[in-house]
Amino acid sequence: MKIGVLASQGAFIEHINILSQLGVKALPVRLPHQLDGLDALVIPGGESTSISLLLQDNNLASEIQGLAQNGLPIMGTCAGMIVLANGISASPITSLGLMEISVRRNAFGRQRESFETQLSIPVLGENPFPGVFIRAPVIEDSNSNVEILCRLSDGSGVAARQRKLLASSFHPELTNDRRFHQYFLDIVAGKQ
Ligand code: GLN
Repeated sequence: MKIGVLASQGAFIEHINILSQLGVKALPVRLPHQLDGLDALVIPGGESTSISLLLQDNNLASEIQGLAQNGLPIMGTCAGMIVLANGISASPITSLGLMEISVRRNAFGRQRESFETQLSIPVLGENPFPGVFIRAPVIEDSNSNVEILCRLSDGSGVAARQRKLLASSFHPELTNDRRFHQYFLDIVAGKQ
C-alpha cells in the first residue's frame, strides 16, 4: 500500500512516521505527478490558509478533487479537515470542498488554544483516544452522508467520515496511539 502525505506545510513528518510504523509506504507529496499510483492521501495539520494557497498554486487542488471523485481515500487532520470541508464559517479559504461538513476554524478561542483530552471514538474500540487539539476547528454542521465519529460534551463534532474520506479536528499523529491511522488504513483496504 502506498500513501501520499501532502508535504507542502505543517506536521507531515509525524504522519509519515506513524504510517511507516504501520507497515505502509508513506511518501511526501508536493507536486501533482507525485499523486500518481497512490492508494490514499493524507492532508496534515498546519495553517489551512497556507495549505489551500499551495494547493491552488501547484495545481494540486484540481488533481486531488478528480482523484477523490474517483474514490481516492483521503484523511485530513486539523487544517487538513478544514481543507476537506465544503463550508468554512467566516473564512475566505478556498477549500477542496470534498466533505459535506461545515467547520469553524480556531473554535476554542485563546484560552483553550491547545489542550489534550480523552475522547470516546466508538469505531476505535472502548479505550479512550488521546485527543490533541491545537488551534483546532470543530464541525458545526454536516449532512446525512456524513458519519460523526466523535463529539465533545457540548455536541460539536471533532471526527467524521464520509465514505472514504476521514477527518479529525485533533492530531492523531502527535500521539503514540495508532488506532486512528489504522482505521484509515482499514478504510483504504476496504475492510471498514
Ligand atoms: N488553526 C489552524 C487553521 O485554521 C489549524 C491548526 C492546526 O492544523 N493545528 O488552519
